[in-house]
Amino acid sequence: MSNIVAIVGRPNVGKSTLFNRLIEQKKAIMDNVSGVTRDRHYGYAEWTGKFFTVIDTGGYVVGSEDIFEEAIREQVQIAMEEAGVVLFVVDCITGMTDLDKDFADVLRRSKKPVILVANKADTTEKSYAAMEFYELGLGDPYPISAENGNNTGDLLDAVVANFPDTGEENPEEGIPRIAILGRPNVGKSSFLNALLGTERSIVTDIAGTTRDAIHTRYTLYGKDFIITDTAGMRRKARVNDNIEFYSTLRSMRALEECDVAVIILDAERGLEAQDLNIIGMADRAKKGIVLMVNKWDLIEKDSKTLPTMEKELYQRLAPMDYMPIIFTSVLEKTRIYKVIEKIAEVYEERSRRVPTSQLNEAILPEIEAFPPPSINGKYVKIKYLTQLPTPSPTFVLFCNYPQYIKDNYERYLEKKFRAHFGFEGVPITMFFRKK
Ligand code: GDP
Ligand code: GDP
Repeated sequence: MSNIVAIVGRPNVGKSTLFNRLIEQKKAIMDNVSGVTRDRHYGYAEWTGKFFTVIDTGGYVVGSEDIFEEAIREQVQIAMEEAGVVLFVVDCITGMTDLDKDFADVLRRSKKPVILVANKADTTEKSYAAMEFYELGLGDPYPISAENGNNTGDLLDAVVANFPDTGEENPEEGIPRIAILGRPNVGKSSFLNALLGTERSIVTDIAGTTRDAIHTRYTLYGKDFIITDTAGMRRKARVNDNIEFYSTLRSMRALEECDVAVIILDAERGLEAQDLNIIGMADRAKKGIVLMVNKWDLIEKDSKTLPTMEKELYQRLAPMDYMPIIFTSVLEKTRIYKVIEKIAEVYEERSRRVPTSQLNEAILPEIEAFPPPSINGKYVKIKYLTQLPTPSPTFVLFCNYPQYIKDNYERYLEKKFRAHFGFEGVPITMFFRKK
């Protein structure tokens, strides 16, 4: 088993704070609603040369008074399935609760090593409060402060002691993470199931083999992928989350964590306002995009139908008309492979880095041929440009009057970037800086 540690505990004890401390990445966006944390569910950590994966099981479970029991069950199940070590977090400030005892009962019966973490021991005085947790029968509590980092080193020593191997630094580097998005009924689950249906394609499930897999790794037609947030699709009705809010939240989370978004439309309905919203969201998030027009089998067609529809779609998408469009039938399994192929291509395009010299050689003549229009008698002169080392293509253009560059000129430049360097399916970002 690989090096995996799972964090469990009732809501508000500081699981996501601890998670973020372990992966040293304060990316979590906390919601005011107790138990709803919009953050990553797993990440990578390193301690004394050992690499391991951290799962925040709390992130999977929407805690509320009436589903505590369910929450415990789900968290513990994920932890048991996935982890080599379980961190059971309790709270020194509020002290022991019945729910802590319930958790402890379940954990004591498990065969996994459990480390009892008494969080919010921000000071030495407060850490004395950790003593009461001995009563849980899970050994010595580790008093720590996830917030200020107190004693987290000792905790990490105890964690990695369970891992004989050094582990892999980042087992997912270079593997595209994809999200499957679209309005209800366009065929997201069917598409996913079609992918899953290619038996033996599953390499590993990183978090959750059953229902709550947030990141699942597959090999499809010889290409590796990680699909983010399959939970929302594979399992539609679950406690408390048949609400639109949670499904939107989950889509946003999946989008946030992906490299390439596969956005599915229904061919019979065409491109509607809601579809444009989803596409706009992916565009703003600077994700790679593959547009999949599904249920193509339902369309009565002749040889002109596809090119006509494609043309119309591009017109409506403008200026977001840079993404590949693939007409599929998940039902009849047509062009599914094409989608997979495009995802891989778009992923490559998104990570493309153009050397500065090549960039200037190509783009400066385009600027000279069609310079930005003068404004109030001022001539904008773009002197040179360079690409930033960001996850999606971002260019900085140095000029004398950055404030005078208008949107339509940016569009012109974007077209030239694409003409020279491709970037199919990838939003391009430009910054104009004074030089
Ligand atoms: P979760 O619901 O278990 O994931 O808990 P969160 O990580 O969202 O934390 C719940 C609250 O406890 C937040 O307001 C945190 O700022 C706070 N918190 C987390 N860790 C500590 C800590 O070490 N000390 C103190 N004083 N507060 C903490
Ligand atoms: P989701 O809500 O986006 O996950 O959509 P589903 O995958 O549940 O599909 C909704 C309905 O559309 C189901 O009845 C599917 O069988 C059907 N469906 C999915 N893909 C296709 C397709 O390519 N052609 C046709 N005719 N029906 C499809």
